[in-house]
Amino acid sequence: MQTNKIIMTVKKYLQKEHKIDINDVDPDALVILDKLRAHGYTAYLVGGSVRDLLLNYTPKDYDISTNALPEQIKRVFSNCFLVGKRFRLAHVRMGHKTFEVSTFRNGDNEDDALIQNDNEWGSEEQDVTRRDFTVNGLFYDNDSQTIIDYVGGVEDGRKNMLRCIGNPYIRFKQDPVRMIRLLKFKARFGLDPDEQMIEALFALRTETLKSSPIRILEELLRMLESGSSVPFLKNLQHHGFLETLLPNLAHFFETPLENEIYDLLTEVDRSILVENARAPKRPLLVACIVYPIYRKRMQEIYEASPRKAHLGKMQDEAFKITSHLFGPTLRITKKILAETVNILATQYRFTPLQKKKALVCKIPRTRDFDQALKFFKLRADLEPGLTDIYNEWVYYYEKFKKSAPPTKRATTTRRPRRHR
Ligand code: ATP
Ligand code: MG
Repeated sequence: MQTNKIIMTVKKYLQKEHKIDINDVDPDALVILDKLRAHGYTAYLVGGSVRDLLLNYTPKDYDISTNALPEQIKRVFSNCFLVGKRFRLAHVRMGHKTFEVSTFRNGDNEDDALIQNDNEWGSEEQDVTRRDFTVNGLFYDNDSQTIIDYVGGVEDGRKNMLRCIGNPYIRFKQDPVRMIRLLKFKARFGLDPDEQMIEALFALRTETLKSSPIRILEELLRMLESGSSVPFLKNLQHHGFLETLLPNLAHFFETPLENEIYDLLTEVDRSILVENARAPKRPLLVACIVYPIYRKRMQEIYEASPRKAHLGKMQDEAFKITSHLFGPTLRITKKILAETVNILATQYRFTPLQKKKALVCKIPRTRDFDQALKFFKLRADLEPGLTDIYNEWVYYYEKFKKSAPPTKRATTTRRPRRHR
């Protein structure tokens, strides 16, 4: 077994070697880095953004690491808020964007106890060793345009390899969310995890139940938005994580409904990756997973007794099924749950269980109707027989929007200023 001590040798890569074009870096991130440096601190881009730039992907966000303490960061930027208890860091606002600026930390890589609090400050070398994977442990110094690599992340990235910083058995026990992250990077970038990590993954799967459900749910939802939701769910399934984290849902992945779920998510992934569309909202993504199961259940209820399949029942069932599938471990937030229920139940306005002779497009005054319609579009993309009905609803919805008085929410504009 490999030793738990992490051997550090620093390697610096010049621009001509790593080939990252500084013009591809968000100018606001550069402003933050320059400002910290102007105040005498060390500051680098770190983590996902460096990895993405190195592997030729467009970064989703930019994390910055510095030797300035949170209070010192706050003093440098007027638009800065300190957040987080387990992991204290600064959020710096630039226009509508928020950048996470964290202080170099020290992490113990030899103790496998679950990390409850990660707020011990350290040097830049120490900061790297507490990060999860070598490709995520790179610093980018925009001043000299160099990559500072303490862990061999550049070489691993070039070889398409995903390697843990330190011993995976220890690192996964310290923070089991790292296992979910491993499956996420494998799905998103096609990185190959090394043998020892795969062994640790199988051995320590159930440790994820010790982690905060909020953090796990966040990683899952982020992956649904990533354009790689299908390979990610397949990874979860293949490595037994679906069974561990979402046992009520895992069962349906053993049935033909699995294909229907994957068809909907494949369509979402395609629109994000091929058409460059923005990721749908989270309730719609959750609806992709729940809908085939819900639809089957509603069909059964209708066949047993058509009168029982009324709108109230549809809402009830949507609520029951969605909360059941995401329970008992993860539990989605009330807001996502409520919106998902609306999206699901509204599908029966578009395609009622009881076939009507003529289509009546009556637009309900619910706030999530546009989301329900977007979900219907997804269904119509997969089932061309629904396209005409979809187009008709869109036509009436556009008309409705033009004629309808603004809803209560929209009318709560700012109070006019009083003039003297
Ligand atoms: P994404 O593109 O999904 O944002 P990311 O790697 O940037 O991926 P973040 O959650 O933004 O993920 O984290 C930023 C960086 O913080 C990571 O690249 C990694 O260096 C470090 N990090 C995040 N989570 C962990 C963890 N659980 N354990 C160790 N290091 C972590
Ligand atoms: Mg990130």
